[in-house]
Amino acid sequence: MSDSFDLVVIGGGPGGYAAALYAASAGMQVALIEKDALGGTCLNRGCIPAKAFLETAAVKRHVDHSADFGIESGDASVQFAVTQQRKQKIVAGLVGGIAAMCKGRKVEVFNGVGSLGPDRTVSVAMNDGGSATITGTNVILASGSVPRTIPGFDVGGPIMTSDEVLDLDHVPARVAVIGGGAIGCEFASTFADLGAEVTILEGLPKILPGLDADVTKVVERSFKKKKITTKTGVQVTGHAPDGAGGTSVQFGEGESVDVDACIVSVGRRPFADQLGLDGTGVVVDERGFVRVDEFCRTGEPGVYAVGDLIDTPQLAHVGYAEAILVVKHALGEGPMPIMYDRVPWAIYCHPEVAWAGPGEDAAKDAGIDVVVGKHPFKFNSRAQIVGDTDGLVKVIAKRNPDGTPGQVLGVHMVGPWVTEQLSGGYLAVNWEATVDEVAEFIQPHPSMTELFGETMMSLTGRSING
Ligand code: FAD
Repeated sequence: MSDSFDLVVIGGGPGGYAAALYAASAGMQVALIEKDALGGTCLNRGCIPAKAFLETAAVKRHVDHSADFGIESGDASVQFAVTQQRKQKIVAGLVGGIAAMCKGRKVEVFNGVGSLGPDRTVSVAMNDGGSATITGTNVILASGSVPRTIPGFDVGGPIMTSDEVLDLDHVPARVAVIGGGAIGCEFASTFADLGAEVTILEGLPKILPGLDADVTKVVERSFKKKKITTKTGVQVTGHAPDGAGGTSVQFGEGESVDVDACIVSVGRRPFADQLGLDGTGVVVDERGFVRVDEFCRTGEPGVYAVGDLIDTPQLAHVGYAEAILVVKHALGEGPMPIMYDRVPWAIYCHPEVAWAGPGEDAAKDAGIDVVVGKHPFKFNSRAQIVGDTDGLVKVIAKRNPDGTPGQVLGVHMVGPWVTEQLSGGYLAVNWEATVDEVAEFIQPHPSMTELFGETMMSLTGRSING
């Protein structure tokens, strides 16, 4: 076995495995070190399992409304242990797929903890008790992130982070979600649709902070219909176990809510804890992020960092993009830095949310003169056929000197399957296309993407459907 590689990657999550596979496809000799399971948070404890749960919630919603479609199915009962098994099968298949791709591309996988020392030398404490020392012409740090916790809410019993929730084999009857961000709202939506009584406790004035205000309103309205109780502007102060497996979560001015599960969803912290780094120029900032420049270069020559370990949007596909950027940079291909203010975002709660570029308020706050167009899904034929009409598409365009809308700055969507519909909007924003150009594109009929086309067309001053 060789001990020197073109690229050594520490961490086998989306940032790490994408770097390893992409580099190997470009002909590099690659080593990938993972202490746990390939796929990282995303495959094992994040995107994939959370979306598998959300799909079960979607099936439950369909069954609950099947009579509207002429199908009498009786009362639907939830067998969440089956959901758990199904999710695990999906995860195992995808993780196995990464291992197979690594093998196929001759990526050397080391199962153990990797730590970086001087001169791009990486020591591996193998899980089987052995050790290895390898060097890379290039090294990528991709050790990701772990859930944040809050004082007084130690994990155990009813207190869970996303890690524990994703191992559940039953639906808790009463759930508190501390933190109304993307992950918190996905869990709130899942468990509400599956019949739990859900309370979101959010310290800020709004759930899903940072979203366009029109989009947030739709989510809030839909959550109300699901009977989710949302308490915003409240601080959680502690909890008192009830002795029967549940707990009473205390918040605000002496308020409390009795629950069977309390999901602490207050963000994730970068995980540089086991990276070593002694004797290197890699700098970890006061919040735990590894400091990098626009090419993801750390302070140590030849050492890069990607994914949740650096202070960029904590999204799997941003990790992929950074991995590709770094490999191209290492190969001397002169890649363009990533424009982080234009990456696609997706939240898979019901209704789904997806966007690229600034919302209306964000654009105005940046001093840009904008023209805004928006259309609701309730008039869209496909949304009516599917029976899911809450939501809208909103386009934020730069105002031309003559007052007409010009360059598309932001596309924001909320409603059915919008995470699958964003790509046209993402392309428009990143291609710096104008409203007139995008309005020329033909959308298939009947489809939900017609609403995107319709919104663009209406900004040109003409329209077909409203
Ligand atoms: P990670 O995925 O955290 O992987 C890091 C890996 O490094 C881990 O496997 C870890 O074991 C390993 N490691 C750490 N230190 C060492 C070491 N010293 N030696 C060896 N191995 C080490 N993102 C989206 O884009 N879309 C979503 O829908 C989405 N949903 C999410 C839902 C949930 C519930 C959560 C928690 C996250 C979600 N995310 C989503 C975020 C996404 O999972 C992360 O952005 C992504 O996994 C980050 O990838 P990464 O490679 O940087 O780190």
